[in-house]
Amino acid sequence: TSKVSVSVEFLDYYAKKQFPLCMRNIHESFRSTHHMRHGSRMQYGLFLKGIGLSYDDCMKVWRDEFTKLIDENTFDKKYAYQVKHQHGKVGSMANYRPYSCMSIIMGSVGSGENHGCPFKHFDATNLKHKLSEYGVSNEGVEELLNLVKATHYQVACTKYFEYTHGKPSKQVINHPNQYFEESQELLSN
Ligand code: SF4
Repeated sequence: TSKVSVSVEFLDYYAKKQFPLCMRNIHESFRSTHHMRHGSRMQYGLFLKGIGLSYDDCMKVWRDEFTKLIDENTFDKKYAYQVKHQHGKVGSMANYRPYSCMSIIMGSVGSGENHGCPFKHFDATNLKHKLSEYGVSNEGVEELLNLVKATHYQVACTKYFEYTHGKPSKQVINHPNQYFEESQELLSN
């Protein structure tokens, strides 16, 4: 978990400024569609726990967004269990860890799903569009696409960090939560 304290009311800000591309993508899609499919719920839910959001905060984030489309009862029946599960409140009570880049990159993403690693799973046109939308310069986009072509996904992510923070990360990105922690350290100094 992060050394710097994290407040749930800044979630949109974090997503915009401090989340890796994979998590910003899921977050924004969740905000706009008020829905997350299973793969995204797993990847993003555990990431949120990993940045230091409490069980109550996570449940509220999910509930507030899902119930823009469905009622509270349906939410409780279909989705609340997964949040409880991720926080070790039900089932085997395990302390589930957020996914690493490697496991996200190696995972499969079906059509209509939006979890995964955009550097690996987006097609080039979509990735290009996203990167420009998120403020990466044309040269930057070209550099990132070349890294992706050479299958250097995590190096591309590390460069994306540098483009969006104006400074490099300390290490190559190998975990979405490490990305966020490095960003927190950088921005709090
Ligand atoms: Fe997310 Fe890791 Fe891919 Fe970066 S390299 S977008 S942190 S899965």
